[in-house]
Amino acid sequence: MGVLDSFALTGKVAVVTGGNRGLGRAFAHALGEAGAAVAVLARDRDVSAQVLTELQAKGIVARSYQGDVASRASVHAAAEDIWSDFGAVDVLVNNAGTCIHRAALEVTQEEWSSVLDVNLTGVWNGCQVFGGRMVEAGGGVIVNIGSMSGDIVNRPQWQPAYNASKAAVHHLTRSLAAEWAPLGVRVNAVAPGYVRTEMTPIDRPEFRSRWIDDTPQQRAATPDEIAPAVVFLASPASAYMTGSVLTIDGGYTVF
Ligand code: NDP
Repeated sequence: MGVLDSFALTGKVAVVTGGNRGLGRAFAHALGEAGAAVAVLARDRDVSAQVLTELQAKGIVARSYQGDVASRASVHAAAEDIWSDFGAVDVLVNNAGTCIHRAALEVTQEEWSSVLDVNLTGVWNGCQVFGGRMVEAGGGVIVNIGSMSGDIVNRPQWQPAYNASKAAVHHLTRSLAAEWAPLGVRVNAVAPGYVRTEMTPIDRPEFRSRWIDDTPQQRAATPDEIAPAVVFLASPASAYMTGSVLTIDGGYTVF
């Protein structure tokens, strides 16, 4: 196999949670371009329908599924439908996420739970529901989307629930990697720095000095610049990687 062939996902089926906008949309495109059939799992059907149209226009086999990753029942129902439509899932990208900017003493119990429910329990739900079937099938690959916020504390905005959730995602990744390596399932994470999406209002002047000026590359990423790493981790190109957290942050965390 030539080196570029090892990045191919021809004949594979990939699920991307939160695959209808931002980073997840870029992951869906990249995985599809690498040859995978793509299942987009998100809450907003109309937005998912737009991405489906884009993917299908490129000749990518794609379907969308309405679901809430924070709900075990919802993830389970979506998984049933995906298996029924595709017959297998080879790759799961746990990308759906949410963030609230709020100082710790002002965070309500509801806000804390809403972030942890999506960012941590949502990843857990995806890993356990889809990972269980991968184990039964004899193999699979999971890519969790963590964040550099799992390793550093962002500023000037405070986001304690988000930071804690992403640190937990990184360590859940390592825990599952250890447990499932003998069962043929690899589990890695990507930890992006600042990426231009709806979640991250890069252009607001109050954030520029910390978010952009403190980044060695002096800019935010585009989603397309994170997507190739997801293809790498999803493909045989990373066959000897599991339990790794791949930071892609324009150098932010070197300081
Ligand atoms: P966006 O806010 O642009 O998109 C979030 C996506 O998640 C949407 O597709 C949304 O779809 C989906 N989503 C949110 N909640 C749920 C839920 N309960 N169930 C199912 N889907 C859900 O965020 P980004 O693209 O910026 O972020 C994607 C991931 O990357 C997140 O995990 C984020 O933490 C991480 N990340 C982002 C960074 C950035 O700077 N942008 C930096 C580091 C990490 P819908 O609303 O239709 O459900």
